[in-house]
Order: sequence, then structure tokens, then C-alpha cells
Amino acid sequence: MPILNVLTYPAEDLRRISEPVKEFDARLDQLASNLVETVLQFRGCVGIAAPQTGHATRLIVIDASRYRKPVPNRGLLVLANPEILASTGSAVSREGCLSLPDYTANVARATAVTVRGVDRRGEQIELTSEGFEAVVLQHEIDHLDGVLFIDRVSSLKRDVFRRKTGKPGKKGA
Ligand SMILES: [Zn+2]
Repeated sequence: MPILNVLTYPAEDLRRISEPVKEFDARLDQLASNLVETVLQFRGCVGIAAPQTGHATRLIVIDASRYRKPVPNRGLLVLANPEILASTGSAVSREGCLSLPDYTANVARATAVTVRGVDRRGEQIELTSEGFEAVVLQHEIDHLDGVLFIDRVSSLKRDVFRRKTGKPGKKGA
């Protein structure tokens, strides 16, 4: 199965609002499989959204079991048209993104979310996630609306870190 090319910031396609999935057909299934393969290609990668690969489609793949620390998780999840129905709490944690490979940032997110979506066969799913997996869900759903983690930080100077040095300061910000 092909591994997809991942767009990096500031690619304009990362800023598009993705279209809802309407047809749960072989094409969608193939895109889902390709996204899964692409996640597996990157060590420690826990999720991807279709628009990161140039497909403006509301489809995400997450797998919090691939995180370097063990966290409560449901393993591999493929969700089309995911929507956050409810969220509670707030906590800051460090996030990274395949589309911003040189940076990490401290981002405040809800600590638990209830999400409704549709699996690749068209069956509705509703789930509640907490902690790390909830953060991943929020991060990937943001991509469907063209939102990147750097949009969520309170200060680009204080909360964004270059991966190599770990020191604050985002070049060109
Ligand atoms: Zn991302």
C-alpha cells in the first residue's frame, strides 16, 4: 500500500476546511489504509488527518498505543466526519505534528472528549477518551478545519520549541 506524502507548514492545503465523507466506498477505504500505512512509517507517530496528505476529506487515523509511554487507549481508530460532542477539563501538554516536524509546543486542550464519527464501513461510533488519546483526537480533528497546534498556543515565543535545541523561539514567528 502506498505511503502518502505529508505536507508541511506553510502548505496552503493544511489551512483548508475539509469536506465531509459522503461515500463509504473503496476509494475511502483505500485512503484510510494509506493513512494507516503512513502513520506506521513514522516512529512514535500517533495520528494523521487526511488533509495533511492533500486530501481535503474529514478522515482521521489515530493510534495512541504507539506513544512512547503506555497510556489508556483504544488502539487504531479510523474516524470519518468526527465531531466533538462534549469536552471537559483543561490541561497543557507538549504536542508535535508531522506537518511541523521541527517544532513542538505546549498546548492547552480538554482532558476528556466525547467524539462521534463513522468508521470506514459507514457504522456510527461514539466514544469517550481521556488524557493523551483525547489530546490526539482534538489535534487531528483540528486539522480538518485547517487548524494547527501553533494556532492554539498562548505565546509563540514562550510555548513553541525547536525540536533540536528544545529552546523557546519560533523562527519567523
Ligand atoms: Zn498534526
